[in-house]
Amino acid sequence: MKVAVVGSGISGAVCASTLAKNGVPVTLFDSARGPGGRMSQRREISEDGKELLFDHGAPYFTVSNPDVLELVREWESVGLVAEWKVNFSSFDCVFNKFVDIQQVGISKKYVGVPGMNSICRALCRQPGVESKFGVGVGRLDWLDEKNLWSVMGLDGQSLGNFEGVVASDKNVVSARFRDVTGKPPPLDLTFAPELAAKLEDIPVNPCFALMLAFAEPLSSVGH
Ligand SMILES: Cc1cc2nc3c(=O)[nH]c(=O)nc-3n(C[C@H](O)[C@H](O)[C@H](O)COP(=O)(O)OP(=O)(O)OC[C@H]3O[C@@H](n4cnc5c(N)ncnc54)[C@H](O)[C@@H]3O)c2cc1C
Repeated sequence: MKVAVVGSGISGAVCASTLAKNGVPVTLFDSARGPGGRMSQRREISEDGKELLFDHGAPYFTVSNPDVLELVREWESVGLVAEWKVNFSSFDCVFNKFVDIQQVGISKKYVGVPGMNSICRALCRQPGVESKFGVGVGRLDWLDEKNLWSVMGLDGQSLGNFEGVVASDKNVVSARFRDVTGKPPPLDLTFAPELAAKLEDIPVNPCFALMLAFAEPLSSVGH
């Protein structure tokens, strides 16, 4: 059995590595240049030549599910994640001080090491996972006569036939795909109207992430 996974964000990467660990060969496709999705890292060089690394998606995560905790402990044991020991608070601009300070330890915060994208990168490199970046999936068709899924790229080239496909981003069925690519979404869900309705109900909210670097450490602000 060979499976295609669309997306190398945390959900696609965990799915691909779990399948591979269980003996199912996986080909993972992501239209982005590298792994991570919304756990990506961006590298910039400042005007004075300093390297700046921004975790511009999720900056950290917490865990409440016991199965996830088991997986995260495994990552922690090999140095892929570590506890992020920082205090969180809001900065009150009127009184010029930090308020609502949340101490370390209330709920353990994890970060990827050295960056958030390290987790997905490591998972995408597991034995049994063949990762292809810069490859957008443009069409998914079930071939009745072969009992296989045909996976095609954005420009119509064949990316192979697979016994199973896992799509980790709802844009493979949403109208938003056309806004971005000018093409219809890869998967036509008219054969599964209930699933189509459920997916339609999942909201997608855009957000801006501001990548800001300071010349001096922030530790002294407000003290
Ligand atoms: C600014 C920001 C802050 C956040 N902060 C936190 C936080 O503090 N804690 C927390 O737990 N979570 C946080 N999140 C949410 C968290 O980042 C996401 O829930 C999580 O990373 C989503 O992972 P995913 O694998 O489901 O999707 P994604 O990471 O979006 O992965 C989907 C992947 O699929 C690829 N893809 C999509 N369509 C195709 C296609 N047709 N062909 C090929 N590839 C395709 C995309 O390129 C992408 O890489 C934050 C998110 C953002 C944006």
